[in-house]
Amino acid sequence: MSQQHKITQAVRIQTELTNEMEHSTPLFLTSSFQFDNTEEMRAAFADESDDNIYSRFSNPSVQEFTDKMCALEGAEAGYATASGMSAVFGSFMALLKQGDHLLSCKSIFGSTHTVIAKYLPKFGIDYSYVASDATEAEWEAAIRPNTKMIYLETPTNPGLDIVDLEMIGKLAKKHNIILNVDNCFATPVNQRPIEFGADLVVHSATKWIDGQGRVLGGVVVGRKDLIKDIYLFCRSTGPALSPFNAWILSKSLETLDVRMERHASNALFIAEQLSSHPAIASLKYPYLPSHPQYTIAKKQMQNGGGIVCFELKGGIESGRRFLDSLQMLSLTANLGDTRSIASHPASTTHAKLSEAERQAVNITPGLIRISVGLEHKEDILNDILQALDKC
Ligand SMILES: *Cc1c(COP(=O)(O)O)cnc(C)c1O
Repeated sequence: MSQQHKITQAVRIQTELTNEMEHSTPLFLTSSFQFDNTEEMRAAFADESDDNIYSRFSNPSVQEFTDKMCALEGAEAGYATASGMSAVFGSFMALLKQGDHLLSCKSIFGSTHTVIAKYLPKFGIDYSYVASDATEAEWEAAIRPNTKMIYLETPTNPGLDIVDLEMIGKLAKKHNIILNVDNCFATPVNQRPIEFGADLVVHSATKWIDGQGRVLGGVVVGRKDLIKDIYLFCRSTGPALSPFNAWILSKSLETLDVRMERHASNALFIAEQLSSHPAIASLKYPYLPSHPQYTIAKKQMQNGGGIVCFELKGGIESGRRFLDSLQMLSLTANLGDTRSIASHPASTTHAKLSEAERQAVNITPGLIRISVGLEHKEDILNDILQALDKC
């Protein structure tokens, strides 16, 4: 048979059939695995066999999820973790050492920023940031002799900036630097950073991959030699993904492609309908020609994704009124759910920061982020419109 399409593999990859002849994938909810004799156990511990030993190291349900992610991303190998942050942290700690420098895009997920700016320096790992719209020359100028890894997120959370993967991929190759990309917002059915030269791809599987707001999970996939180091670090330090969560996430991958198509078409509809609304100062969606990096988005993404951002003219008070006026959209600290979610960072998640601190991380007073769900697009739009009328 010819090599199957990636989305077929996401549906069909499954743990080896057991004697029960199950059709849907079984759940291997077990902490450890047994051996028939001391010789088999010795061989497993000596890495002479692939037998499972203990679920902190490997587990069939976790491996099934990882294999599907590798197929979707076009990666050689992977390791799944308990959350997106443990995937990010594991990829840093396994590959960086004292004296190394990490070059990162400035617009990154809040907890990733905390890891880079607060914890990496404790281990003698230096970092610096470039702007998400930096030119090739600006990126290249920021590379130091000890730069070991380039880290970026595209589209960025929450600003939806797009970073040119082809440009950074070439730059990383030229300088022999590991390129590590957080592909959480796009998912592999929409964007595959490895095709543009990324060595590693990290995910929060908590978001679109679960897609139904049930479990936390993460995964890092990419070059076999790098994943080996990440695996060895994680198997000793313990951020393993629970088999139960892996079983949920593996079933979720069977529907990722169809879900993301609908999330994206609903989001494009919402973005188009709202772009000239009188209460909105500006609106960002990667697949709208008005997006500053529209041509890059078109080049590297198959669709615009499920997130729409806009800036309310009325600032922080308008943002608060908008959220409080919503009747259907949920107010919750997550994204990538079947249910549409609205967030206003300035009055909620980032309310503790000063105005200047918020400005520094691109959280403007009237910034609203909509994670567009799978409800009927007219119902999503109507709820947003009636709330906009009140702010
Ligand atoms: C949520 C998120 C993370 C962290 O993932 P968790 O599963 O919450 O640990 C990392 N990167 C991005 C872009 C995210 O949105």
